[in-house]
Amino acid sequence: METTNAMETTNASIERAWHVLEAVPDPEIPVVSIRELGILRDVRHGDDGVLEVVITPTYSGCPAMSQIAEDIAQAIAHAGLGAHRVETVLAPAWTTDWISEDAREKLRRYGIAPPTGACGSGTATTTKPIRFVPYKKEIIACPRCGSTHTERLAQFGSTACKALYRCVDCREPFDYFKPY
Ligand SMILES: [Zn+2]
Repeated sequence: METTNAMETTNASIERAWHVLEAVPDPEIPVVSIRELGILRDVRHGDDGVLEVVITPTYSGCPAMSQIAEDIAQAIAHAGLGAHRVETVLAPAWTTDWISEDAREKLRRYGIAPPTGACGSGTATTTKPIRFVPYKKEIIACPRCGSTHTERLAQFGSTACKALYRCVDCREPFDYFKPY
């Protein structure tokens, strides 16, 4: 009987932890959560019973990761969930493919063009013979007016994860979340 209750409590606390952690925003793009970006991978109990929060960093060396760990700690403390630890898992590596559809829409509304296409080991490209062709020009739609008449101003935008673009039609500069 006691074990059953303990198990129920455990599952309830995991569920509660998911709930509070889903609300933790990305420090750089506060309109999307770490869950939506695919950074938050798992919430579980370790062998010692301590709550484990599993995260996968986005771009290597992204300075936001320590901020994310801090935000996680704060959310867990605020919910009174007790001790926890943050486990950083590097494999499989994070890719922009993990960004949810909802989050892509939120990015667009926030003024950041979401990454286009898949960047992982897509099967579509593996069958093609290797040819020396000019780097395919990416067509990035303006997140404000939707125009594809855009130009890249800089390889790096506000952070290394983003490139700076400008819309030729509405003249607005915007960040493009680079596929990774
Ligand atoms: Zn525009």
